[in-house]
Amino acid sequence: MIRERAYPVDPWHIRETRLDLDLMAQSESVFALSNGHIGIRGNLDEGEPHGLPGSYLNSFYELRPLPHAEAGYGFPESGQTMVNVTNAKLMRLLVNDEPFDVRYGELRSHERCLDLRAGLLERCVEWVSPSGQGVRVRTVRLVSFTQRAVVAFLYEVEPLETSARLILQSELVANEQLPPMSKDPRVAAVLDRPLLAEEMMEQPAGGILIHRTKASDLRMAAAMEHLVETPGRHAITTEGHPDWLRTTVACRLEPGQKLRVVKLAAYGWSSMRSLPALRDQVGAALASARLDGWEGLVQQQQDYLDAFWDHSDVKVEGDPEVQQAVRFGLFHTLQAGARAEKRPIGSKGLTGPGYDGHTFWDAETFVLPALTYTQPSAAADVLRWRHSTLDLARERAQTLGLSGAAFPWRTIRGQECSGYWPAGTAGFHIAADIADAVRRYVQATGDFDFEREVGLELLVETARLWRSLGHHDRHGRFHIDGVTGPDEYTAVVNDNIYTNLMAQQNLMAAVDACQRHPDLARGFGVNDEEAASWRDAAAAVHIPYDKELGVHQQCEGFTRLQEWDFEGTPPEGYPLLLNFPYFDLYRKQVVKQADLVMAMYIRGDAFTPEEKARNFAYYDARTVRDSSLSACIQAVMAAETGHLELAHDYLGEAALMDLHDLHRNARDGVHVASLAGSWIALVAGLGGMRDFNGQLSFAPRLPSRINNLEFSLLWRGLRLRVNVTSDEVTYSLRNGGGQARLTLVHHGKELEVTQVRPVTMPIPAAVPPGPAPAQPHGRAPVRRAVH
Ligand code: BGC
Repeated sequence: MIRERAYPVDPWHIRETRLDLDLMAQSESVFALSNGHIGIRGNLDEGEPHGLPGSYLNSFYELRPLPHAEAGYGFPESGQTMVNVTNAKLMRLLVNDEPFDVRYGELRSHERCLDLRAGLLERCVEWVSPSGQGVRVRTVRLVSFTQRAVVAFLYEVEPLETSARLILQSELVANEQLPPMSKDPRVAAVLDRPLLAEEMMEQPAGGILIHRTKASDLRMAAAMEHLVETPGRHAITTEGHPDWLRTTVACRLEPGQKLRVVKLAAYGWSSMRSLPALRDQVGAALASARLDGWEGLVQQQQDYLDAFWDHSDVKVEGDPEVQQAVRFGLFHTLQAGARAEKRPIGSKGLTGPGYDGHTFWDAETFVLPALTYTQPSAAADVLRWRHSTLDLARERAQTLGLSGAAFPWRTIRGQECSGYWPAGTAGFHIAADIADAVRRYVQATGDFDFEREVGLELLVETARLWRSLGHHDRHGRFHIDGVTGPDEYTAVVNDNIYTNLMAQQNLMAAVDACQRHPDLARGFGVNDEEAASWRDAAAAVHIPYDKELGVHQQCEGFTRLQEWDFEGTPPEGYPLLLNFPYFDLYRKQVVKQADLVMAMYIRGDAFTPEEKARNFAYYDARTVRDSSLSACIQAVMAAETGHLELAHDYLGEAALMDLHDLHRNARDGVHVASLAGSWIALVAGLGGMRDFNGQLSFAPRLPSRINNLEFSLLWRGLRLRVNVTSDEVTYSLRNGGGQARLTLVHHGKELEVTQVRPVTMPIPAAVPPGPAPAQPHGRAPVRRAVH
């Protein structure tokens, strides 16, 4: 675990003031840079020591067999895993004749700093070689948001006290050796030398390497070039091998003189384009980067991020640690999606090999809400990618004997890659999560072109899935049996309430969209009868309820299962999935992550306030939060049910997931859903934002330690700013001119905001909530204020 205060609190920077070799892999994830297309882990420039080297390209994967000890019908037999692609980060330094390596000599100082406003990772080092030569090294790197194929590095080195001979070797390396992985099933499969060399081309100050994967048959190219500045003479040479390319710069400097090298690198990949076409593509990307140079790239990065923060920043006063963590979370959310462009967003973004680089419902349900209201085009692109995989999802539904589209639980390219069907194929709710993301996006943007091109077909095919997966019983009730909801500790159940309510919404969203686009709907084969069958199913969805306890059942029969022995479970017993058999987890009342609690947030319109309060108390006491997708949603429902201090605690947990390595697996990549979820915890939790039935509403209330919260949202092209203090809220429009009006609901009261007329409203006194829910023994979140 990363010790508290590993990164000093600072509103806009993540600073590491000393290098801890035991925490290398964690900090490589925290310091990973990405634009959603390219991702590079925060490995040291010289490559060693390292935790986990990693460079990734979105959707560049290799196939691997998915062996099953006992095969069964419909089990996927081939998996996909993200490939560690050619490494462009390597820049090794030789000082006189000694390699700069932090493990030798004396490391006088070592600081790394991720600047969230500039989008740069900077490293400053003072090192004395074993033979006593001091050097100061400063490096800065960026993955460009504006030039999607470009990564750039600045390397500056100067001798201290006495003159020195400096040799900088800058490389591209394919098929680097990776350290062995742990036995944790969540960790990626190691691929042995996944890249076959196709072409190597040396140029005086750089070159190109082109490789292909063996089974998935994808081709990638990486190119680099160097711009060298140094007083006096220097020598530069490049030599190559099919798997590596090395440009060497040599010079001799006096103290006070500096060697400055800018390394520009470009990546490209394709499943279709020819080798020459790809070679030209990376050559062109390099030419474009050269045109702007280092300073130009840095300036573009700054401009891009200025615009992003201007409309996406969330200000939290009173808890500086959460403020920093929330901005860190927003930065990683942006990095995961900014330039993904019709590609998926993986659960770790492109920050590490965890979960094989797969995308899950995490993207649609946790990341897209934040993107929809801040960077809507990035949200649309993810859904366009889903749409591009519809044929595969239709095929999968057919294999399973179902209609419509069955989207994969986890995948890179669109095929199901889960080797464990109770927590894979049975997680059918992914279909409704995609539909929910479509509904939310269209509602928030009014982008009906998107609905026509992409949204309608997704809604229709997912509605068809639900209609065929569920059935009406003899009393007409509609049941969806044998599915797994978000809580993976209760699998293959009947009438999971989250699934049922989300399917209900999905069916009705399809009916509504077909009414908006009748001709298109007919083109998809939807007739009146089919639409009526969706409406009937939605109206008759069964919602299991335990009358005796006065709470809903997460699934049919849940509340009569045996209770889990929380008192007898030691701290090292968590996460339970690594220490107890699934069969035991499945038959007891132990909840991995927000499930019914999640339903009460997304389908909050289906519960009364009293039901929400009782359900939340019951399920919070049984939820162990073994998934990082839990805390942010519990924050939302804690806030809605009036437990504001608890909401603050959960918000802290979601936001600090990686900075404090709370789940002890940040080494494999950051938890993008939890980081984006901290936006949800603030905006939907403390801000009380909901968007039921096209109506934007807020019910803000702050916990004792937070005295001001400010956030912005895009709604139908209008930029709304919400500023909350402990007793009042100001809603203002930041664009749209005098004509634009936005109607919203504040604590149940409708009001209108215009650009010239911000509205300030008091926060009504809250009904005192009952006692705060207790969590399972030993599982209370870290307290952020005195309760
Ligand atoms: C969670 C899933 C999630 C996956 C990837 C699992 O532990 O239970 O809900 O989609 O991790 O983040």
